Amino acid sequence: MDRDAAAKRIAELTEMLNEHNYNYYVSDNPKISDAEYDGLMQELIKLEEAYPDVALPDSPARRVGGEPAAGFEAVSHLVPMLSLSNAFGEQDLRDFDRRVRGGLDGHTVEYVVELKIDGLAVSLLYENGIFVRGATRGDGETGEDITHNLKTINSIPLRLRRPLPQMEVRGEAYMPKKDFSRINREREESGLPTFANPRNAAAGSLRQLDPRVTASRALDAFLYGIGRVSGMTVTGHREGLQALQELGFKVNPNIRAFEDIEQVIEYCREWAEKRHDLPYEIDGMVVKVNDLALQTELGATSKSPRWAIAYKFPAEEAETVVRDIYVRVGRTGVLTPTANLEPVRVAGSTVSSATLHNIDIIREKDIRIGDHVVIHKAGDVIPEVVRVVKDKRTGSEVEFLMPGECPVCRTGVQRADGEVAVRCPNEICPGREREGLIHFVSRDAMDIEGLGPAVIDQLVGAGLIRDAADLYYLKAEDLLGLERMGKKSVDNLLNAIEKSKHKDLAQLIFALGIRHVGARTGKILAAHFGSMARLQEAEVEQLTTVREIGPKMAESIAAYFREPVNLELLDRLKTAGVNFTRGVEQAGERPFDGKTFVLTGALEKYTRKEAQNIIENLGGKVSSSVSKKTDYVLAGTEAGSKMDKATALGVTVISEDDFEGMISF
Ligand code: NAD
Repeated sequence: MDRDAAAKRIAELTEMLNEHNYNYYVSDNPKISDAEYDGLMQELIKLEEAYPDVALPDSPARRVGGEPAAGFEAVSHLVPMLSLSNAFGEQDLRDFDRRVRGGLDGHTVEYVVELKIDGLAVSLLYENGIFVRGATRGDGETGEDITHNLKTINSIPLRLRRPLPQMEVRGEAYMPKKDFSRINREREESGLPTFANPRNAAAGSLRQLDPRVTASRALDAFLYGIGRVSGMTVTGHREGLQALQELGFKVNPNIRAFEDIEQVIEYCREWAEKRHDLPYEIDGMVVKVNDLALQTELGATSKSPRWAIAYKFPAEEAETVVRDIYVRVGRTGVLTPTANLEPVRVAGSTVSSATLHNIDIIREKDIRIGDHVVIHKAGDVIPEVVRVVKDKRTGSEVEFLMPGECPVCRTGVQRADGEVAVRCPNEICPGREREGLIHFVSRDAMDIEGLGPAVIDQLVGAGLIRDAADLYYLKAEDLLGLERMGKKSVDNLLNAIEKSKHKDLAQLIFALGIRHVGARTGKILAAHFGSMARLQEAEVEQLTTVREIGPKMAESIAAYFREPVNLELLDRLKTAGVNFTRGVEQAGERPFDGKTFVLTGALEKYTRKEAQNIIENLGGKVSSSVSKKTDYVLAGTEAGSKMDKATALGVTVISEDDFEGMISF
């Protein structure tokens, strides 16, 4: 390539990569895969190396990340937060080792090798041991203040176990794989665009102006470095990690040290195999020089330190054929076009279908039936089509059209303004009901063992059940005649259903499948209202006062309880004996074990019976008269003589608010 052609391509790449950086770092919404991005970046770096004088001043190859987004306070980092240079193959690691040794006159070097967590870099500042400020990396010099959001991550200590005068710590906030797939499923069902990968999901969740949204996203953080510290001396990176752990931070345990680069490479290979077994996503390994004095000697470029490198795992993609595109009906009625694929192995398992999300994405990627496509797993879990291999088109590929009616019940579909999703509006669509049943019995919901989709289909097909309440009215004689239902399996199934009656209220609320109400919201609602009856009565305004419940969710909850079919379902569940109050079966949670309560006065939030259920479910007892043995008197308004007696005997008197605090978790 001659100089002019190189200058032209450099300008093109600079513009493209800057645009992709904006989509990725500022909007948390990448338009191309990381592998494609890395390919373009490598091309730019090579061209700039060959023709340094035509590199542009806004070259993305020389800068870190993106600018702070509007709405956040800017934070200047005490020490710049750099990116890492990349190794795309084993040879790159050997070259790195040669450069390091060359830079240190052949000094012996010990490398520390860590997992490269695919999340969002954050810095945490502690003053006198107290967490005072948290920020994103931003452009390396200036990040965004996300202190409130970081405080919602439970593993980030708000106070160090030893009060150092000042400490700035760096790490990676991330979203575990299972939460990533759950959140994407919930978003798809709510007609919202899904996150491309856990990294973007974590970034999108942390860069929220409303910390309640962050709190609902189940993020976590591993800390891997010290930016600045006073009151403590460390001389090596490994020692620093040890200190972080002792101070109360979560440090990833998979850390090894080696002197020989070949051993480093072997360790990287090992993790390239094992990475799918981790509960969070890693996109490579990070290799760092251990000795801090040697790190200083090696120094840094404007973009990355010379003493560390990120070894990126090769993108796990596979090519296959779209055999067909069919439409799935979700429990909230969203129709999701799904590709039926020629089975192919990718990222540790065989994949035969992939969500195509919605018609806009199908059009954007121009996916047709019969196409050869490249697939990958978003967040290591969700199979997705990355791109179409257009060179392999024969002309016989068929364009997919979204059906105008629900494929299950034939009701005309609807597309709400501003929503990408198309929905079946029929509340009693058998397709929706089937998905609703699968959700109802699932692990985080009522957790009914042995009741998978196949058995549900069998029961629905036999006309034995239509909705969740029907499960509780099944009789052995109905089931015994069915295929593959011997006495033993019938007993097991009925026992599992019976057992589920005692699940916690939180699980029941989640199981109902109210739009926007996830497992965590179920817990919050159960803790706040204590009973289904109270939740059912709550008006929109009252719901919005509950922590983490926004107006949209409040409206959706209230709307659920206005629907006669839902009320009828609840009625039948209750009559069948399903638990409608909070506090049953929380693993290890029996905070009232051995405690005796006396109730007095008029309670506002609970009926006497409900309060009693809660106490008993959490291990306590309710007695009718106050004595020295009473632990608590729960006093409502207009409490009378029992309260006086409690005061005289020195028994603790608690209000309904106190009580609520005691039963919240
Ligand atoms: P990077 O992800 O390649 O590596 C640097 C980051 O690794 C650090 O900032 C830190 O956050 C993280 N990290 C994780 N574990 C670590 C550990 N144990 N020790 C130290 N650091 C650790 O660099 P980057 O600048 O954050 O992102 C660049 C990458 O982002 C690109 O290579 C590309 O894959 C992706 N990207 C994609 C697009 C797109 O449009 N798809 C756009 C921009 C960037």
